[in-house]
Amino acid sequence: MKYLTEYRDSDLTRRALDEIRRTVTRPWVIMEVCGGQTHSIVRHGLDQLLPPEIELVHGPGCPVCVTALETVDKALAIAAHPDVIFTSYGDMLRVPGSGRDLFAVRAGGGDVRVVLSPLDAVKLAQQHPEKQVVFFAIGFETTAPGNAMSVLQAQALGLKNFSILTAHVRVPPAMHAILGSPSNRVQAFLAAGHVCAVMGYHEYPPIAQQYKVPIVVTGFEPLDIAHGILQVVSQLEQGRAEAENAYARAVTFQGNLPAQATIEKVFVECDRYWRGIGLIPGSGWKLRPELADFDAELRFDTAEVRSVESPLCIAGLVLQGLKKPQDCPAFGRQCTPEHPLGATMVSSEGTCAAYYRYGRLNLDAS
Ligand code: SF4
Repeated sequence: MKYLTEYRDSDLTRRALDEIRRTVTRPWVIMEVCGGQTHSIVRHGLDQLLPPEIELVHGPGCPVCVTALETVDKALAIAAHPDVIFTSYGDMLRVPGSGRDLFAVRAGGGDVRVVLSPLDAVKLAQQHPEKQVVFFAIGFETTAPGNAMSVLQAQALGLKNFSILTAHVRVPPAMHAILGSPSNRVQAFLAAGHVCAVMGYHEYPPIAQQYKVPIVVTGFEPLDIAHGILQVVSQLEQGRAEAENAYARAVTFQGNLPAQATIEKVFVECDRYWRGIGLIPGSGWKLRPELADFDAELRFDTAEVRSVESPLCIAGLVLQGLKKPQDCPAFGRQCTPEHPLGATMVSSEGTCAAYYRYGRLNLDAS
């Protein structure tokens, strides 16, 4: 496939890794923001092929993983409502809330459905005027335009039985939170290519300058990632800290302006609580006040929801790059993809799931 197979070419990737080896002279800690990149790195063993000076740590860029436990519990409460059709992307169904997940709600009689697009949820609302249809609108900047479009479409159709449970998160405030933390180890970022395809990377030069860290927009195939790391290492070794684009086939500086305009019509920035990390100021999007009719949290009373996280789970430290999954005593024992204790073991983009799936268990070591 054009623009895919050539970026999986092992000879070209090996050459880029050789170039990294020739360039690096000192230890560096680099964080890939996106869970999709984490999976690609672990799947292809890139972290094990890099010179020992380079440590990759895995960031909080898995939307399923960082959706607040309280929001998951609110979704469970709404989905259990007898006149609700609750719709979601598939990977949210196994995310554990305080006591159960959406699969358990469905097994108990709740009408929980997987949709491939929020616009399918709008269609369901048209087909079932006797029901309230709720869409679980999670994700980073990447899913925000489609989720915003569903609200605009429902509004245009005059639907009174469609609403969204919003848990949108944004990358730049998370970068500020990581870099501003006293325990921060990150010296450079690989920024997420798909987020930047929507938003561009004009928000990154001020961050690079403020914290003196290189930020390189990077794709998802092995060669993309090797090139991103090479650009980051070159900057680090030269003492530069700039925002660069190593994913020019998909990303421009300004990004997708119509998509950004759609987001702006529907959402407004807000503080957001990230699962395992805590409150990050300005890191979310919520519905604009004039669209409150489409807000599931206002339509359903979820004030009584109380959330309790598993005491064993250290996913927050994993998401901040401070720990690896093998540092968690539950990894591969009490916590597996079949029986996840934390969200980073559930999602296809979760770091714990990637380490488990690609055999980084090391259970004999502890
Ligand atoms: S292995 Fe499971 S319990 Fe441990 S940090 Fe990962 S998700 Fe949490």
